[in-house]
Amino acid sequence: MASTDPELLRALEHANLPSLVPVLHQLTGDRRWLRDPYRPTRSRGMDDNDQGGFAPGVAAEIRTAVAAAVAAHDAGRPPAVPAPTGEALRELLELANGEPVAPEYAEMLAEDMGFAPAPARVAPGTGIDAVVIGAGVSGMLAAIKLAEAGIAHVVLEKNDDVGGGWYENTYPGAGVDTPSQLYSYSFHPRDWSTHFGKRDEVQAYLRDVADTHGLRDRIRFGTEVVGADWDDERGTWTTRTADGAAFTSRILVSATGALNRPRVPDIPGLDTFAGPAFHTARWPADLDLDGRRVAVVGAGASAMQVVPAIAGRARELTVFQRSPQWVAPNDVYFTPVDPAVAVLMARVPFYRRWYRARLAWNFNDRVHASLQVDPEWEHPQRSVNAVNDAHRRVFTRYLESELDGRPDLVAKALPTYPPFGKRMLLDNGWYRALRRDDVTLVTEAVAEVTPTGLRGDGGTEVAADVVVLATGFHTHRYLWPIEIRGRDGVRLDDVWGPEDARAHLGITVPGFPNLFVTCGPGTVLGHGGSYITIAECQVRYLVDLVVTMAEKGLRSVEVRPEVEAEWTRRHDEAHARMLWTHPGMTNWYRNAAGRVVCTMPWRIVDYWRMTRAADLADFRAEPAR
Ligand code: NAP
Repeated sequence: MASTDPELLRALEHANLPSLVPVLHQLTGDRRWLRDPYRPTRSRGMDDNDQGGFAPGVAAEIRTAVAAAVAAHDAGRPPAVPAPTGEALRELLELANGEPVAPEYAEMLAEDMGFAPAPARVAPGTGIDAVVIGAGVSGMLAAIKLAEAGIAHVVLEKNDDVGGGWYENTYPGAGVDTPSQLYSYSFHPRDWSTHFGKRDEVQAYLRDVADTHGLRDRIRFGTEVVGADWDDERGTWTTRTADGAAFTSRILVSATGALNRPRVPDIPGLDTFAGPAFHTARWPADLDLDGRRVAVVGAGASAMQVVPAIAGRARELTVFQRSPQWVAPNDVYFTPVDPAVAVLMARVPFYRRWYRARLAWNFNDRVHASLQVDPEWEHPQRSVNAVNDAHRRVFTRYLESELDGRPDLVAKALPTYPPFGKRMLLDNGWYRALRRDDVTLVTEAVAEVTPTGLRGDGGTEVAADVVVLATGFHTHRYLWPIEIRGRDGVRLDDVWGPEDARAHLGITVPGFPNLFVTCGPGTVLGHGGSYITIAECQVRYLVDLVVTMAEKGLRSVEVRPEVEAEWTRRHDEAHARMLWTHPGMTNWYRNAAGRVVCTMPWRIVDYWRMTRAADLADFRAEPAR
């Protein structure tokens, strides 16, 4: 049946063609769509590969066939392949991605795509309840999933709204650098206005999630947690807040994030500066930069966004860069999403799922193998293996083209360490901002601040009216400054020390029964992907365990020390073979002793499998008294 639906036909002109071909097979059941000439090419790098490498005639044929299949579907014909799983899904994933896909990805994506959703488990009504600390991405998710499992809970949030880091980071240019269709909960899609959502839209999304799921009734806003104590007699946690209130619960879920406590460097004289001096996560709402001299300290992900956003507004902008960053190009970083795409998402069955699945494939684990150190590699100073070296060449060529004619800037901005050694950044106009006449790049750390300016450790003096500290976060001190006391009053801070946190799966700690940490040690993604995927793994795991507790009438579960020790051993062993222990750079992933504390050494698909269901044998489970 040919379609004459003009809205759909117009929208199909904006389709990602590799996402349409599996849709065609699902709607029609026709296997010819799985073969040439309908097989797209693979994406190169982070490119969406919208045209799929198809000849124009083939592209037109695909669009016409989709329009016809959607018309038939709208007229009542059910999809021929409504929920592919296993080998059938793997075959379609290979089709959509234009390259081999291992079976484990089909298993993971069957769940994410909703073809084989994880079975919902509901706790029997045994009075088990939870306190969740934080209403950011992880805390909101925990609240949604605890509610689905029938577990009563309250969320304690220090801010006046949901969003966590997204609520707090209002600096100009703030936004995601993971595609927004992937940086969304799997169960709550949005039609994003740009491929990489900016902060206000991410915050609007999270507010929408809170409203849709009725979270606000269960969140105490303006309630800062200062401590929590385990009571072994009663088998409960007592969570204390800054205003003197206490909340007792069987379960405690920490959802305070890894990037929540701003790290303000201890620079001599900083407190004497006459003008505004603040951390990027504390951007003053009423700050006017017009005509002022601004100094930015730092050149990480936050600086990368803030500098291009304020260049041109500030009269002079000086960036203090202690070490340069690798920057990858991305053609669609600022590109608005055509409104026609929302029509496709709404009207073409399965299209949104395939679009997201392709993003997951391209962004999740694709570079993971290239971050393994090749002991035979001949150039270990500059890269860790041949593929990593090829990445280096691509990013170097890009840098040189962006800074063409400015050898001074090339020399300052080109890193010596291997790509991905620090967190990889996407270019959002960084190099172009550096080229401006009103922007100066000083390759020095700040040694001193005076009332009127800054002095670098190489002696460069810069006059400034405003100082922006893009200096990152306390990433090693999980939960800090909240004081958590577990069994026998032992402080979590004493167990972990200031920078050596460790937890089984990044979630559970011996001596701290019924405490579950999200975004904990060893679970930050350094190689790619969306943190929300990891949060969904962690929350599923902890809810699974709490439901099991309720079913079995357990008062507490406490991970066995040997299980956590084995996890940490494997974690450290995996890291020893990976890039982030390379001596050529600093990064916020590892501690002063060189141990990688924050980042996950495994692929996302591995972590998905590890956290798929909680194994009670890993825990000392105490029955109700
Ligand atoms: P960061 O990556 O830790 O960068 C901090 C910067 O400050 C580094 O350039 C560091 O230099 C510099 N610095 C620290 N102390 C200094 C001093 N005393 N003098 C001079 N320079 C100093 O922090 P961030 O940029 O806030 O990013 C943190 C993380 O947040 C990111 O890695 C990312 O995971 C997340 N984030 C993501 C986005 C996004 O999605 N687009 C945006 C912002 C943040 P060294 O490199 O030499 O240490």
